[in-house]
Amino acid sequence: MEKEISTFNPSKEDLVLLLAKRSMQAHQVWARGYETCKQNTAGVIYLRGLAEISNICGKDCYYCGIRKSNEAVERYTMCKEDILLAAAQAHKNNLGSITLQSGEVKSPDFTNFAEEIIKEIKMNFPDLKIVLSFGEQSKDTYKLWKAAGADRYLLKIETTSQRLYSMLHPQNVTHSLEKRKKALAALKETGYQVGSGIMVGLPGQNLSDIANDILFFKEIDMDMAGIGPYIEHSQTPLAGNEEIPPEETRLVLTLNTIAALRIAMPSINIAAATSLDALNKYGKEMAVSAGANVIMINLTPEGHRKNYRLYERGLDELDKNVLAQLESYGEKIAYGAGGDSLHFINRTRLSF
Ligand code: SAH
Repeated sequence: MEKEISTFNPSKEDLVLLLAKRSMQAHQVWARGYETCKQNTAGVIYLRGLAEISNICGKDCYYCGIRKSNEAVERYTMCKEDILLAAAQAHKNNLGSITLQSGEVKSPDFTNFAEEIIKEIKMNFPDLKIVLSFGEQSKDTYKLWKAAGADRYLLKIETTSQRLYSMLHPQNVTHSLEKRKKALAALKETGYQVGSGIMVGLPGQNLSDIANDILFFKEIDMDMAGIGPYIEHSQTPLAGNEEIPPEETRLVLTLNTIAALRIAMPSINIAAATSLDALNKYGKEMAVSAGANVIMINLTPEGHRKNYRLYERGLDELDKNVLAQLESYGEKIAYGAGGDSLHFINRTRLSF
């Protein structure tokens, strides 16, 4: 007989069972992820604009195309006017929120530049929620940006396994799993709506690793997640690794992870990461069918996109079709909604 797996509190063993499903049984897990999503969130799909404001990065992650040592990349930082234009586009298209993402730069210049941009976006578009994804920064910087008007922060842990983390990064103080965990704690203490996430299908990653990641997300009581498959980028050291799972496996495992995370944390926001589109042109729709409730729409100007390639292959032009497609399946798109995670609303609700 099938073992009963609890929504809200699956054990590590339960999570591994869910993650291991294939073919028809995997479809059943995705359907459960989808149902759990509909029952425990607002039941609608939220939209997020994405502006990749700079590809300058001080880190050298072995998987990432914009790593510091990749000299083939032309580096850019969008000017203030262009970033405001992207925000205007998000506003005009009723996306409800905008994510500003960049490589990791820790400098007073960047800190001040970002602060200024956040303030201007808030001043011009007070209803547009601002999500930052600028990597690990000091608590003071996080506080400064929050005070300027930022609402949410996305910092993916990438993996909570020390074994994998060491394989994915150079061994030095700049690349430390412990420091990344501390940054997530600092974000939470600062009052952000906090998002994290992992890459699925990393070479050497097993189901127990992913189950531990999900339990970590429960432990830190995260509000939102970005879950996507690992995709090779030929200008990175990891690309040639012989243990990278086949694409099919990475796709199924990513959908299983979205569903398992949804079952473990029913009211959080889960975004269909853009990297899913690189594996399948219906990647985002499939993510929604497994329990994701947020779709990212790329607003980075065309001229810069070719230089912000974290991985190779990207089908951003499908963004427009995906919404029509989802609506044709009967999904309700929440145009113009800020899309706060219900988990966040519940955990911060004032009690009298
Ligand atoms: N500098 C920021 C933003 C990083 S880029 C930070 O450190 O948080 C955003 C995300 O892209 C990363 O968190 C990672 O999960 C994802 N990413 C990078 N390279 C990738 C690859 N090769 N395949 C899939 N996802 C990748």
